[in-house]
Amino acid sequence: MADASGFSWNSLANSVLAGTAVSRSEALAILNSPDSQILDLLAATYRVRQAHFGTKVHLYFLKNAKSGLCPEDCGYCSQSLVAETDIPRYSIMSEAKLLEGAAKAVESQARTYCIVASGRGPSNREVDHLSKIVKKIKDQYGLHICCCLGLLSAEQAQTLKGAGVDRVNHNLNTSARFYEQICTTHTYEDRLNTLKVVREAGIELCSGLVVGMGETFDDLVDVAFQLRELVVESIPVNFLHAIDGTPLEASEHLNPRDCLRALCLFRLTNPTVELRVSGGREVNLRSMQAMSLYAANSMFVSDYLTTKGQPAEEDFKMVEDLGFQIVVGDHETARLWRERNGQGAATPEEAGAIG
Ligand code: SF4
Repeated sequence: MADASGFSWNSLANSVLAGTAVSRSEALAILNSPDSQILDLLAATYRVRQAHFGTKVHLYFLKNAKSGLCPEDCGYCSQSLVAETDIPRYSIMSEAKLLEGAAKAVESQARTYCIVASGRGPSNREVDHLSKIVKKIKDQYGLHICCCLGLLSAEQAQTLKGAGVDRVNHNLNTSARFYEQICTTHTYEDRLNTLKVVREAGIELCSGLVVGMGETFDDLVDVAFQLRELVVESIPVNFLHAIDGTPLEASEHLNPRDCLRALCLFRLTNPTVELRVSGGREVNLRSMQAMSLYAANSMFVSDYLTTKGQPAEEDFKMVEDLGFQIVVGDHETARLWRERNGQGAATPEEAGAIG
């Protein structure tokens, strides 16, 4: 559908496909678009998603390797010491537990195993401990590894690279302007610096945000443009799941159509980047979850850090119902491991694994 000036979502998609960057006014138009245009916007965004990723869906499996007791005060987070939440609290997990999580990731058809630890940043001892385990996981299961450990020094980033970590997640979370409204114990600049040392270490960058913390549309566009400038490989878009006892507990659930518009914004501004519909998917998108995959090409499977996701089988069914396919990943090592352990031969997908 075109307006009086001839502007249409299809022409915007054509321009993105031709390599033209979305402007600020176009980005704001996406977020301000009326509900009556949501299908046109989504269909145009899907053309861009399909051009770069076809109908493939990458699944990510999260493991909370260290939970709670964090001295930082991120307003959305149930693991902060300022939050009065009833969550499990434990120090860094043993090798056995993290290997068990890797087996579960393979079982859940995940391509990437995300090892997450609460805290401002890891100690060198924690980085060494995780590095040894990452080597074993890669050897036994062939999973891609993404670590989310908070602020990192250049040396720590190098150690993770040496261990074979493929990617580090460190979210911008929100815009530079709004950052101090959600966190006062570290700065947006601190976050940018970690992304810089990770990039310099030669590790892929995963960085995204949390939508629905009271930010403006301009803040969302700032994040989209900042991530475009950083040329990140992966963008997780979380939707605030307001948890009782956190400073943001009174926030309203988002409107599912606003969630879809946010995903369209991030797809059209970062067309070739892996876009993940992340935390808060179930509670905010509700019955419209499946539509998020017309813009995003990946999602988490199973549980989040401190909240439950829907059962993996429902996610598999959702992908199948869309006529999309899960990218099983480079599970050749996992296939050999299963054979060694008498757990049956590879599935056809594994045999023809798509990297
Ligand atoms: S640094 Fe991480 S674990 Fe700590 S409060 Fe912030 S988001 Fe939560």
